[in-house]
Amino acid sequence: MENKELINDINNNVNEYIRNIKENIDEKKALVITHGCQMNEHDSEKITWLLEKMGYDFVNEVEDADLIILNTCSVRHSAEDKVYGQLGNLKNLKSKKKNIKVAVCGCMMQREESRNYVIEKFPNVDIIFGTNNIWKLPELLKSSYDGKKLAMDIEDNPLSIDDALGANRLYNFKSYVNIMYGCNNFCSYCIVPYTRGRETSRRPHEIIREIEELAKNGTKEVTLLGQNVNSYGKTFDDKFSLANLLEEINAINGIERIRFMTSHPKDISDELIYSFKNLDKLCNFLHLPVQAGSSRVLKMMNRKYTKEDYLRKIDKVKNVNPNIALSTDIMVGFPGESEEDFLDTLDLVKKVEYDTAFTFIYSMRENTPAARMDQVPDKVKHERFERLLDILYPIQERKNKAFIGRDVDVLVEDFSKKDESNVSGRTDEFKLINFKGNKSDIGKILKVKVKDANSFSLVGEKIES
Ligand code: SF4
Repeated sequence: MENKELINDINNNVNEYIRNIKENIDEKKALVITHGCQMNEHDSEKITWLLEKMGYDFVNEVEDADLIILNTCSVRHSAEDKVYGQLGNLKNLKSKKKNIKVAVCGCMMQREESRNYVIEKFPNVDIIFGTNNIWKLPELLKSSYDGKKLAMDIEDNPLSIDDALGANRLYNFKSYVNIMYGCNNFCSYCIVPYTRGRETSRRPHEIIREIEELAKNGTKEVTLLGQNVNSYGKTFDDKFSLANLLEEINAINGIERIRFMTSHPKDISDELIYSFKNLDKLCNFLHLPVQAGSSRVLKMMNRKYTKEDYLRKIDKVKNVNPNIALSTDIMVGFPGESEEDFLDTLDLVKKVEYDTAFTFIYSMRENTPAARMDQVPDKVKHERFERLLDILYPIQERKNKAFIGRDVDVLVEDFSKKDESNVSGRTDEFKLINFKGNKSDIGKILKVKVKDANSFSLVGEKIES
């Protein structure tokens, strides 16, 4: 049977389970709690889409829910600990409210150790599913309602069945689209290749069709997602790269902004760098995770580039597009990191002058090569982390203040968190900006004059409705 027919067949089965839950289960209030990255956020959009089809309404408090789904992240210990804490609280809730169902999915469930820990310590968990088995949720729910103690599916699935699902998009004006899954890089501190599997790219025509459909339904900004989008298409027999894909998306009517993440510095090609000059809809923003500024540490991390390679690529990007805003991930306290190595990181940060950065203290993940290396004492890690921020924040502030007086285009996303008479959105450079506005501004791209700035955001004034 062809893959397409097989997927259709499977979909018919899924629809049968959806109908069954919709018709036979009365208590249908759900809460989906999402941890981690944009990939997880998008997976949760697929989960809520399925739940809505099954007739679920959504609530904000665990006490009001009949079904609670934790979509987990295992990139750091703290992320896992948070989930264990939530499961502990749910244990108490379930002892009072027997009928609620608790489901756990996401990266933690792909990891045998975490999964076994959850099964052993939290018998209150009813359903477990993996990152490739979202489509199994209706079937697993049905088994659970039929009395199965633990309904579980974490099997790897070579067919992209989850891609055939819809998604209950958080915003209709900006959407995430997966273009590839998994990673082949095996950075020595990372468990993603073990949890998300090997790299596979979605075929371009499927992605284009999805984005055309999104554009018809009001999406203005699309963010292409993958663990390492720079190697998009490498598994195809015919040559088709991320730059080719961006060119096709750039031609789609209705799409006004394109972003992508995450990039790997070793795979960013000249062709892709020139896209920042040639494609008018590609935003002036590049997130290029460096992780460390010491070539010695980068080697221990198995990153496959040196400090000099990275700086050369950054220079090229800045030459091609002088307006580009740069962002990165920096990890402090990788095993074996010496004071000299750390000073190399500070030096790189000063040279690149990042607009923003995600900074982390190294967190050991079992069964990764880095876990077996000599660890840096906690006190040293924390002290270096503070010193990094002391360098980073003034640079961010200076770069943000350079926007004062400029007119910028802002995609308005929501009301501001601090003040409901303000709205907040993102500039082309992904800078967060707040300004006086109202509900009707949300979802529009507006011209705003920048009036003030600090290290983390801009303040503006609307100059056009
Ligand atoms: S590129 Fe490295 S850090 Fe990123 S997902 Fe792959 S293994 Fe992890």
